Amino acid sequence: MAAASHPVVLTISVVLWGCHRVTYLNAGDGAMFGFMRSEIISIGTELTAGMTLDTNAAWLARRLSAVGIAAVRHVTVSDDRDSIRDAVVRAAARAGVVLVTGGLGPTADDLTREALADAAGRPLVVDEPSLTHVRGYFQRIEREMPEANRRQAYLPEGAVAIENPLGTAPGVVVRVGGSVVYAMPGVPLEMRAMYERSVEPELAAQSGGAAMVTRTVHSFGASEARVAELIEDLMVPGREPTVGITACDAVISVRVIARGATRDEAETVAEAEAGVVRDRLGSLVFGAEGETLGQAVARVLCERGLTVATAESCTGGLLAKHLTDVSGSSAYYLGGFVTYGNEAKSELTGVPASMIAEHGAVSEAVGVCMAEGCRVRLGADLGLSTTGIAGPTGGTADKPVGLVYVALATASGTIARRLLVNSELGRGVIRQRSCNAVLNLLRRYVIWDLEIGTDGGV
Ligand code: ATP
Ligand code: MG
Repeated sequence: MAAASHPVVLTISVVLWGCHRVTYLNAGDGAMFGFMRSEIISIGTELTAGMTLDTNAAWLARRLSAVGIAAVRHVTVSDDRDSIRDAVVRAAARAGVVLVTGGLGPTADDLTREALADAAGRPLVVDEPSLTHVRGYFQRIEREMPEANRRQAYLPEGAVAIENPLGTAPGVVVRVGGSVVYAMPGVPLEMRAMYERSVEPELAAQSGGAAMVTRTVHSFGASEARVAELIEDLMVPGREPTVGITACDAVISVRVIARGATRDEAETVAEAEAGVVRDRLGSLVFGAEGETLGQAVARVLCERGLTVATAESCTGGLLAKHLTDVSGSSAYYLGGFVTYGNEAKSELTGVPASMIAEHGAVSEAVGVCMAEGCRVRLGADLGLSTTGIAGPTGGTADKPVGLVYVALATASGTIARRLLVNSELGRGVIRQRSCNAVLNLLRRYVIWDLEIGTDGGV
């Protein structure tokens, strides 16, 4: 737990764990595998008031999973001694490990030490090595130690300090009931350094090499409910590995979380389950892990050696951005036109003025013509277009906000799709979905030989 300057800490910390190891293996969803469950408590009125976004809890939860510990609850508490104590006592009653961040500073609103002492039913006592550390910190920066910083060297009796390599506030390890509570500073940099250096190695040793591994499969073209139907039996609560769904801009992502006694074991299980998900979703699947639809399309175009051009109206260049977000995009993206006005549509992509007059700028005919025009004019294998009403103004009864036509032109013909995005979702989402729809049309055409003129889902 500690560096050379804190030899005592190491000994006590091991004892803290050593005596009570078995009690950390709580009953619950991981029990049959002997997995530990944890809860995370974030402390700070600026968090509960919504002034600061709690990034510590998310970061810790991800890191915990790497050592096979599930974070099963996040709680945020204001700078109030009794509220912090209650949160710690409750979390400790449920989980084998409790991670607390914030409120360890020297000011009057930093009350985590006091609350931990209350929760553990112990008085606060001075910890000499911590006092030396705090004094040493001020000596190094050639400043007088303010009296308030003395408070940071106080720990609940029987607790252990965790060295803070970046700041003054030491962390605290203390037993509360059958649980071990780790309290770390709120400042993200300090918290991360302390966790990586001292807390994670200890938790990893306790979990005996166990690991949790996550695999994500991304799909596009079917609703969240439809995707859920296809994998319903995998999503049964309590089943291992666990499978869940999230949706963002019509990209439906399926997340598999597998646990194993070793990382290899967890990876094997996760990979097998992700394979089942991929099979079930078939051509809806476009990528995995952090891959975006734009990146997946880039990969496919590079593999096939195809080039693409764009003509955008309602997306105003966003489609070009998606295609060029990927390094090396010059291999497949030749360029494009933002043809926002009618004249630009005619001049740059050759849409006849009479067609616009007859059908309107937001129409299948114009979308098709734009896609074909940019393809031919830039000499690309494929041409993509978007034309629609992103709103919030400009909608009519015939052509409401959210109506978008996207098209893909190829050497052998052009495919168009009509989308109707819920106008309430707003301009940004309508534009993003338009891009996703046309990128997916391209991906399906190239990979799955979507036939020209067919009307399957995009
Ligand atoms: P300090 O010694 O700086 O007072 P501390 O342990 O008392 O450290 P806080 O006072 O609670 O920590 O927070 C210090 C700063 O760290 C906050 O102003 C905020 O910017 C950031 N912070 C605290 N908690 C979180 C959190 N959960 N997520 C992201 N940032 C946080
Ligand atoms: Mg503080």
